Amino acid sequence: MDKTIEIPPRSGTAFTLSRGERLTVIDPRGEQVADLVAYNRNDTDEVISSGRTLDYASRIYLTTGDPLYSNRSNVMLRIIEDTVGRHDFLLTPCSSDTFRIIYGDVNPHRGCFGNLAAALEPFGIAPDRIPVAFNCFMNVPVDSKTGAITVEPPLSRAGDRIVFVAETDLIIGLTACSALQSNNGSFKPIHYRIDPVA
Ligand SMILES: [Zn+2]
Repeated sequence: MDKTIEIPPRSGTAFTLSRGERLTVIDPRGEQVADLVAYNRNDTDEVISSGRTLDYASRIYLTTGDPLYSNRSNVMLRIIEDTVGRHDFLLTPCSSDTFRIIYGDVNPHRGCFGNLAAALEPFGIAPDRIPVAFNCFMNVPVDSKTGAITVEPPLSRAGDRIVFVAETDLIIGLTACSALQSNNGSFKPIHYRIDPVA
């Protein structure tokens, strides 16, 4: 049975992931970003933390073997497989403000932020509690001298994937990113699947 679920272009979803379960995020067509956020299912004040994770990793590019920490320094997820090796954990989810400020859109799309807010609302999670996301497949190189960052086309090709294992019981928010620049100019779906405890 194919358990793969599709997130349509420019949309998002939220679901629970239990300790030991594996979450596979797949880029079915290539060059498409998926923003991922995670909350402790039993206390949603505990949330995935870019700052703590990058601090403890002493690196900004994370891949197989790397843990993703919470604001309380507990490991929420661990990357156990990664066919791309380039993801971003610096930038916030794209939002109507992103499109207004960076793209100059007059009637901006709500972006990953709005999609996450809508998907997380049934779990009692307010928009102000959405943190910097782990941006699967997002390619943000950093100039080593100036620290300048650019958003480049993802290195992911059709069928590439990243697999996480849950280290505790979680609520996950996941999107097919809505920002043109992040996805090399086109909006594509994202696929994911949940596999039981290994
Ligand atoms: Zn986005």
